[in-house]
Amino acid sequence: SLTVSDITKVYGGETVALDDVSFEIPDGEFVVLLGPSGAGKSTLLRLLNGLERPTEGEIRIGDDRVSGTRSDVAMVFQMHYLVESMSAYRNALTGALNRTDTVDSVFTRYDEDDKEMALRSLETVGLLEEANQRADSMSGGQQQRVGIARALTQDPQLLLADEPVASLDPKAAQDVMHYMKRAAAERNLTSIVSLHQVNIAREFGERFIGLRDGNVVFDGGKDDLTMEDVDRIYYGESPENS
Ligand code: ATP
Ligand code: MG
Repeated sequence: SLTVSDITKVYGGETVALDDVSFEIPDGEFVVLLGPSGAGKSTLLRLLNGLERPTEGEIRIGDDRVSGTRSDVAMVFQMHYLVESMSAYRNALTGALNRTDTVDSVFTRYDEDDKEMALRSLETVGLLEEANQRADSMSGGQQQRVGIARALTQDPQLLLADEPVASLDPKAAQDVMHYMKRAAAERNLTSIVSLHQVNIAREFGERFIGLRDGNVVFDGGKDDLTMEDVDRIYYGESPENS
């Protein structure tokens, strides 16, 4: 499981991005992170990914304390950062670089395992047929799915995604979420996805963590998440109370 204990993150000695945040996520759960701009979603995901250190508190995966980037944690971003001139397959393959302890990735030779994993990852996101297509000839949704395949080739146990569908139209966004959820289910991946489309969040999320001003203001399942809760996450007090 993933355990976040009393995490506080302060930037520049004054901006409190996260304020004593705690939660635990069992293996394989698909969690959606909700919250208005500035709530601390990206900060939380960067801490979970080990890209940044908490000011206070600790994060544990199983019994290990997270103290830097790790091969078993993969991240998908809003911008997919694919190499546009390379095929979907070559892009997916680069996920293996985050798994091996390669010092100079330019001269890496991928082994048969890497190749098999890249193909399996493309299959998971429904792009096996398009494996040889150049990334820049694909739609935005397909490109984001290649980004997910790359993350899967890393063979993570925790998949983090920071607004992975924010720049896509509703249909493409749904597609991407469908494949991400399928990947998580297939591999029993613990997943945390920040989203700002509440309808898509509701369609795919199993559990919702609502952040506001660096605080967890909601943590519960789909049946618990009322419109009032959504208002409280995005606007502070719900209209009735204000
Ligand atoms: P958005 O929906 O706009 O992406 P967010 O929920 O991801 O917002 P964060 O980016 O985590 O929010 O920001 C939380 C707070 O921390 C904000 O006040 C932001 O200005 C501040 N912040 C984030 N990153 C930094 C940084 N590198 N240096 C200083 N302050 C930062
Ligand atoms: Mg953000």
